[in-house]
Amino acid sequence: MQRTVLKFGGTSVGSAEAIERVARIVASTAGERLVVVSATAGTTDALFAAVRSAAAGDLAAARARLDQLDALHRAIAGQLGIAVPTELDGLRAQTLSLLEAVHLLREASPKAIDAIVVYGEHASAPLVSATLRKHGLRSESRSAEQLIVTDDVFGNASPLVSQTRERCAPLRELAAAGAVTVVTGYAGATPDGVTTTLGRGGSDYSAAIFAAAIDATELRIYTDVSGVMSADPRVVKDARTLPVLSYLEATELAYFGAKVLHPRTVLPAIEAGIPVRILNTFAPEEPGTTISSFAPRDGSVVKATASLAGLGLINVAGAGMSGVPGFAARVFDTCAAEKVSVLMISQASSENSICFIVPSEAAQSLRAALERMLSRELARHDVERVTVEAPVAIVSAVGEGMRGTPGVAARVFTSLARAKVNVIAIAQGSSELNISLVVTENDRENAVRAIHDEFHSGRASVRLSA
Ligand code: ADP
Ligand code: ASP
Ligand code: MG
Repeated sequence: MQRTVLKFGGTSVGSAEAIERVARIVASTAGERLVVVSATAGTTDALFAAVRSAAAGDLAAARARLDQLDALHRAIAGQLGIAVPTELDGLRAQTLSLLEAVHLLREASPKAIDAIVVYGEHASAPLVSATLRKHGLRSESRSAEQLIVTDDVFGNASPLVSQTRERCAPLRELAAAGAVTVVTGYAGATPDGVTTTLGRGGSDYSAAIFAAAIDATELRIYTDVSGVMSADPRVVKDARTLPVLSYLEATELAYFGAKVLHPRTVLPAIEAGIPVRILNTFAPEEPGTTISSFAPRDGSVVKATASLAGLGLINVAGAGMSGVPGFAARVFDTCAAEKVSVLMISQASSENSICFIVPSEAAQSLRAALERMLSRELARHDVERVTVEAPVAIVSAVGEGMRGTPGVAARVFTSLARAKVNVIAIAQGSSELNISLVVTENDRENAVRAIHDEFHSGRASVRLSA
C-alpha cells in the first residue's frame, strides 16, 4: 500500500491559485496521504518582524502586521470560495496577546517567538484542508503541537522519536480510513505542551519526521522549483535540476545554504528507508530530484554549488599560541558560553592563528568575549589580535564524485582566480565531499557562478574529455 507524505512550502500555499494546485496534486495521488504545510510565503518573515517591532516598543506596528496577515488569509479563503476558517479568530487573538506580552516586557524570549511565529502554519493548514474538502476529499487540519514531541531547544528543537511516533498513531488510522489530514509544519511542543519550532525552513524537517512516524512509503517535498538544482536558480540562470542526489550530498548542500531543503530533513526519512523526492508544485509532472541513501555514479565531479551569506570571520592570531595545550578548546568554549554556533573552522595560515566562521550578528560580541577571555595573553602579546571580517559568505562545491578525483581543488581555485574572486579562507574538510571557502559577501554570487561555470558549462565537459 502506498502511504505518501506530501509537503507543500510557502509559495505552494501562497495564493488561492497555488492552493487549488495543491488540492489537485493531493487528489491525484493514489493511496493513503498525509499533507504537511508551511505558512504562506512571507508570513513567517512578517511574524518575526512583528516580534521585533513589539520588542522595540512599537506595538502598533506589530499589530498592523498581524492585521495584514489576518486580512490576507481571509482574502485567500474568499478567493478559494470557502468559508473563512473559524480558527483564524482565536489565532489572531492569541498571537496579539503574545505580542502584547513581548511589548510589555520589551523582550522576546525564544519561547515567546516560537509561540508567535507558528501563527503562519496554523493559518494555512485550515485553508488547505477546506480546499481539499471542496475537491471532494475527506480532510481535517491538525496542529503539530499535538503530534511532534520535541526537546526544549526553542527555535531549533529536535523531535523525541518514540513519543512522536506514539502521538502520530491516529494519523496512520485516519490515512488508512481514506482521510487526508493536513498538519502544520515547522512546529512541535515539549512533553508538557509548550510550543517549539524546528528552525527556519523547518517544515521540510516536520514532513520527514511525520513520514518516519507513520511509516510512509514516500516523502514528497513540493516547492517552487523543479528539484534540487546545480546552484540556486536565483543566482545561476542556467542551473540544472539534479535527478539524483545521495543523502550525504543533500545534507551538505542544505547545510551550506541550498535553501530548497532544511539541513536536517533527510535523516529521519533516510534512516527509515523512505525515498525522498523534491518536486515542483507548479510543474508537478516534472521528475524533480530523488534523494537516495547510496551515492549514484553519474560521472559528475562537483554536483552543485551552494552559498551561505550573513557570516563573520573571526581570526585569533599570535605567535605565542603555538603548542599551548588547550588553547583552541578555550576559544571554542567561549563560543559555546556565548551560545554562538561555529559554522566552519578554517585552515590555519602560515601565521599561528585560529580562524572560524560565525553568524555575522554574533561576531562583534563574540570578539569582545574572546578579548576578555584572552586579556592576559593579549597583554603579554602571546595573542596579537582578535579580528572580525564581516560580512563574508561560505561558498561550497559539493559532490560525491570529488572523492578520489585529483585536481578538483585546483579547478575550483583557478575558476575563482579567473573571476577575480579573492578567497579569504579555506575550510578544513575530510569527507572529500565538499570544498568550502570564504569570500566577501560582495563576491558571493560571482564565486558561485564561477565554480558552476567551471563544472557545469559545456565548455568544462569538453575540456574534461579532451
Ligand atoms: P519552500 O517554501 O517550498 O520550502 P524555499 O524558499 O524554502 O521553498 O526553497 C526553495 C528555494 O530554494 C528556491 O526557490 C530557490 O531559490 C532556493 N534554492 C537555493 N539553492 C537551491 C538549489 N541548489 N536548488 C534549488 N533551489 C535552490
Ligand atoms: N514557515 C517556516 C519558515 O518560513 C517553515 C517553513 O516554511 O519551512 O521558516
Ligand atoms: Mg523551505
